[in-house]
Amino acid sequence: MRSPILDYLDTVITETAHVTSGAVADYIPELASAPTDRAAVALCTVNGVVYAAGDVDVDFSIQSMSKPFAYALALADRGIDDVVARVGVEPSGDAFNELSLDPETGTPRNPMINAGAIATHALIDTEDAPAVDRVLDYFSRMAQREIRIDEEVAASELATADRNLGLAYLLHSSGVLEAEPRAAVTGYIRQCAASVNVRDLALMAATLANNGVQPNTGERMLSRVENRQVLSVMAACGMYDAAGDWFTNVGIPAKSGVAGGIIGVLPGQVGLAVFSPRLDSHGNSARGVAMMEMLSEDMGLHLMDVGRPGRTSLRETQLATVEGVDATVYVLQGDLVLSSIEALIHEIVSNPPTTPLVVFDMGRVDEVLPVARRTSSAMATKLHDAGHRVVVIDPEETLTGFTDDQGRPVELWTAERLARGISR
Ligand code: GLU
Repeated sequence: MRSPILDYLDTVITETAHVTSGAVADYIPELASAPTDRAAVALCTVNGVVYAAGDVDVDFSIQSMSKPFAYALALADRGIDDVVARVGVEPSGDAFNELSLDPETGTPRNPMINAGAIATHALIDTEDAPAVDRVLDYFSRMAQREIRIDEEVAASELATADRNLGLAYLLHSSGVLEAEPRAAVTGYIRQCAASVNVRDLALMAATLANNGVQPNTGERMLSRVENRQVLSVMAACGMYDAAGDWFTNVGIPAKSGVAGGIIGVLPGQVGLAVFSPRLDSHGNSARGVAMMEMLSEDMGLHLMDVGRPGRTSLRETQLATVEGVDATVYVLQGDLVLSSIEALIHEIVSNPPTTPLVVFDMGRVDEVLPVARRTSSAMATKLHDAGHRVVVIDPEETLTGFTDDQGRPVELWTAERLARGISR
């Protein structure tokens, strides 16, 4: 049986076929000669299955979609603070190749415009492993196949690289770029010439959606905090001077490339990739933007769409005898996030338990965010201070070592122990 997801992706291709506006990038001769009528779309959820439609096997150069991944490597090498001191995180409002640096700091405004990307590329260049080899290996591990450079594209772009060279010399003179400018630009252009298709890109985007872990191999490619940093920079700066338009219409972190690709990431859910060579005036694929708008609308991907708010974690409150002691059992549910835990605390504060034993049954809880952990410790302190014994039922064993604010341990029980001990 053919998956309805594939049928839907076919529809995305046919229903955007009328978008023939825009023009291929002509400042790179090899891109100027690319067939313009190609189009492909792929998606990969955090479960790792890739669905693709259209010209799925056409390879094209990754171009600026390489930038978030090179940035990820720089963050892992040097830490966020060091990288941010050298390359900012502010949207520039300028075109991708603008010859501009932040007038206050003298640093590139962000790692998604060329100035920042050239500086970032140089940051990941090491004695043992040239930056180009490192990014190719990184792409390959995410795409689950060997990613190589399209040498024709690289040569073509190198032959017409005056603008990027100009940027690199500017960076060099302001001290941001220590490397020899020509070498940095050559490496950066080779990074951009890596040849990929929409399947590869969907897997790479899905790795970012999956919190930095490649969904099929399970390999952690970047830490949770680095992943968040990369996605935030993509959200703020990924679509160049169209960032505001993009975020209001499509509403997910994204990055476009001048060969016509765009990747998009819905955190925790899905990585998307589209391809169509003609570019709009911002340098983003015109039909690619149309495909992404359709995907976002049809599949409800917009991050600012407020779905079903998590209102309360408290499913019910039971009075019971547990192992012979009078107990108040709070049965919790769903994700423990700020709004839901606030509702629980409000209930406990306005209606304090009167039994010696207080049990929090987390059997139906899906995820405990750090804010919930901190607030629960503070709540446990107050209950301990008021003379209660506090027990948490922790079936997933996510709370090992849990204490109150004063370091007093909170008893952790299994669900079986509660079930055995309880009588109502
Ligand atoms: N290699 C291209 C350049 O530096 C990347 C630009 C892009 O994809 O937006 O001009």
